[in-house]
Amino acid sequence: KTFEDCGFSPQLMNAITKQGYEKPTPIQCQAFPIVLSGRDIIGIAKTGSGKTAAFVLPMIVHIMDQPELAKEEGPIGVICAPTRELAHQIYLESKKFAKPYGIRVSAIYGGMSKLEQFKELKSGCEIVIATPGRLIDMIKMKALTMLRATYLVLDEADRMFDLGFEPQIRSIVGQIRPDRQTLLFSATMPRKVEKLAREILTDPVRVTV
Ligand code: AMP
Repeated sequence: KTFEDCGFSPQLMNAITKQGYEKPTPIQCQAFPIVLSGRDIIGIAKTGSGKTAAFVLPMIVHIMDQPELAKEEGPIGVICAPTRELAHQIYLESKKFAKPYGIRVSAIYGGMSKLEQFKELKSGCEIVIATPGRLIDMIKMKALTMLRATYLVLDEADRMFDLGFEPQIRSIVGQIRPDRQTLLFSATMPRKVEKLAREILTDPVRVTV
């Protein structure tokens, strides 16, 4: 299977080829058609599988499909990750594909100046990648709203639970419209994560690599 088989536009193919990605990885092969069709997904996959691009590339398509893109404020794609290191990696992967389209990406995590992050969010973005605690801080400070968000990714959900972020995740999810598309990625599926998935995903397709 090729990226073209998965339905990516020639424009996005350009960016994919530039990254040196010749063909989709197994998780990508499984995830792309499901996510591009608009369905929710549970992806059981580890780092190194190419799981980041599995949610980033369809997110670019999702954002490009939005009418009147420039008019409203607040991110369309929201990605939560357990650690600043992972958030930063996702930021770099997103940036590569978002930049050619003028899609703005912000990374929001602890250890960086809140004021700087506040200002950056205020200037607008289509994608926000955040650790849960800092994202809540920024929502409380009214640096951004979740009103426009329609594509939510919870990455390494099991690790977020291990780090005690369940209340923050629930709070963030509660602020995003229920007709959003939700993607949950996790290396393992402990009961608490299963329970969350049952509660916040709509008729999800489960893929395992
Ligand atoms: P991840 O599992 O998302 O952390 O990705 C692991 C590495 O694989 C990253 O360096 C990605 O840039 C790279 N990668 C992702 N998808 C592909 C692909 N289809 N072909 C080659 N490399 C890829």
